[in-house]
Amino acid sequence: MKPMTTRSPAETADVAEHLGRVAAPGTVVGLVGDLGAGKTLFVQGLARGLGVPADVRVVSPTFTLINEYGGGRLPLYHADLYRLERRDEVDDIGLDEVVRGDGVVAIEWADRFDVLGADALIVRLRTTGATERVIEVDATGPAARAVADAWADALAAAWIERA
Ligand code: ADP
Ligand code: MG
Repeated sequence: MKPMTTRSPAETADVAEHLGRVAAPGTVVGLVGDLGAGKTLFVQGLARGLGVPADVRVVSPTFTLINEYGGGRLPLYHADLYRLERRDEVDDIGLDEVVRGDGVVAIEWADRFDVLGADALIVRLRTTGATERVIEVDATGPAARAVADAWADALAAAWIERA
């Protein structure tokens, strides 16, 4: 997938929403980027695309918890490794079980520990201006690759429609 540039928070959420529409059971999304890059915002768009009801608050789980958002096409699990200091804390929150499961998993600060398994999407968000972000996507296995392809197609269709 080619890098994408977004020019507003809404555009980043929209990119993520399209991923939510095509995500499959077991899709794991690792989010990488500095503070304020848009990782949490991305998860909000992802939730919307999965059909999680709008009144469900999508915020980073505090401390060592994993948030679960229901009500959508698939359950969405949301973890944030920012405050974790050791791998055994990751074990404690049960993230590995969730990653092996059939929901959709979004993990902020996914580069802090080895948590994504062998087949995941890695979404890198880079701040390139006050309201500009560059989004780079890598798929590390066949399932993630299939989702990335469907996502790219959906985005291309949406952009053609808008143009
Ligand atoms: P993170 O979880 O990576 O720390 P957040 O999603 O919490 O980041 O915050 C991103 C912040 O950057 C929000 O305040 C959002 O409004 C702002 N922002 C500005 N432009 C963009 C953009 N193009 N994409 C994403 N966020 C943006
Ligand atoms: Mg965040």
